[in-house]
Amino acid sequence: MVKKLYYTKALLRTEVEKCLHCQNKPCKRACPVGCDPQFFIQKVKEHDFVSAAKSIREKNPLGEICGLVCPSKLCMRACLRSKIDHPINIPKIQATILADTPSDDFSVFEMKAEKIAVVGAGPAGIGAAVTLVKNGFSCTLFEKNEKIGGMLNLIPSSRLPLSVIDKEMKNILSMPLLQVQTNVDIKDPVRLLHEGYDYVILATGEGLVRKLNIPGEEYAISWIDFLNQSKAFQKVKKVAVIGGGNVAHDCAKVLKEIGVHSVEMFVRRPLFMMKVEKEKIAELIDNQINLHPNMAPVKIEKNNTGFVVVASRTMMKNDKLIKTKEFCSYDGFDLIIKATGGSADKKVTHHEVFYAGDCKLHASSVVEALADGIQTAHKIIDPLLNKK
Ligand SMILES: Cc1cc2nc3c(=O)[nH]c(=O)nc-3n(C[C@H](O)[C@H](O)[C@H](O)COP(=O)(O)OP(=O)(O)OC[C@H]3O[C@@H](n4cnc5c(N)ncnc54)[C@H](O)[C@@H]3O)c2cc1C
Ligand code: SF4
Ligand code: SF4
Repeated sequence: MVKKLYYTKALLRTEVEKCLHCQNKPCKRACPVGCDPQFFIQKVKEHDFVSAAKSIREKNPLGEICGLVCPSKLCMRACLRSKIDHPINIPKIQATILADTPSDDFSVFEMKAEKIAVVGAGPAGIGAAVTLVKNGFSCTLFEKNEKIGGMLNLIPSSRLPLSVIDKEMKNILSMPLLQVQTNVDIKDPVRLLHEGYDYVILATGEGLVRKLNIPGEEYAISWIDFLNQSKAFQKVKKVAVIGGGNVAHDCAKVLKEIGVHSVEMFVRRPLFMMKVEKEKIAELIDNQINLHPNMAPVKIEKNNTGFVVVASRTMMKNDKLIKTKEFCSYDGFDLIIKATGGSADKKVTHHEVFYAGDCKLHASSVVEALADGIQTAHKIIDPLLNKK
């Protein structure tokens, strides 16, 4: 267990004692999957870790992962303790409860006739698949990569250790009625309907790297290629990260973790408009990552110092961010990472094909994609269950 990601027993006790047992459970209402922090906190106070863990797992098949990576904008932002001092660190309590509590075996379900295909085994596909099999529908989960988990596998291991992903994925893979086929790239989802599936859920995420559309783009590598094999870049000395969102933040932090001396981030927006939580900006500054806000790269060149980023200064005009004619050049980079996020495949329209997760929501979070997968599965199964 990586200590700093979890509470020690003593610190857990101190943190749960801060709960005010608010009447309307704002923390529960802010949780996309409906976990009940007030309840599991109370169970921790009663030393009943088994009931605490059970209540989380009933709602959330990726409970420990979510405990480690859920953004603070959800249950924590809703926590009324913040009116007195600080919000309770609900995600960390959740992760700590689940880290040491073994999961229950799944019960045997009453089997229904319909077969459903889920394409993409990230959080949304997993949420859909788990909901389907829990309700007795057999489900095949198709994944184009070798491993299931989707973007979970790219979240830096300093925040989400691989052992935690492996543990929760092993649980998913052991579910009855669930067939998982990895290394299968589904190019034509409608064909699955002709192959015996009654419905298809597409939970394919946003794995297409967004282009910069600037000259010299070919000199840059994508954030996916970097995060997939970050250790291969340990020897680089000076890196430019293009982008100012969560993905760019993680690339910059991983570069520092692997020992890269100089990391510079080129961000189109002003600092206060960056698409990351405020504490993440502070983290970048603490890690001595050099931020260039209001700088939109317009060209990448190569010269005898290495790669050069030419950027145009941006400014706000009539509520719009525009590029100005002021250009700056930054040279001497030995690696450039384009980290402006991803986009989704083209969608097909078909009555029996449903979309779930980031391919529909765009850049959400693990728990929001998971919740959307669960809700999408219910859109299919609720009418079927009501008919029976
Ligand atoms: C670097 C990084 C850090 C992040 N950090 C956090 C964080 O701290 N907290 C947080 O809550 N969220 C974080 N996120 C966001 C979170 O990971 C995503 O919102 C979430 O994974 C989206 O889930 P999804 O199932 O919709 O898509 P994905 O996780 O992208 O999964 C889609 C899956 O579909 C598969 N697929 C695609 N096309 C096909 C096909 N044709 N056939 C078969 N399979 C296919 C893909 O291989 C993939 O496995 C982070 C994301 C990244 C990239
Ligand atoms: S909002 Fe915070 S203080 Fe109130 S019940 Fe939930 S966790 Fe406890
Ligand atoms: S799943 Fe995430 S959002 Fe929901 S209560 Fe747990 S930590 Fe909060």
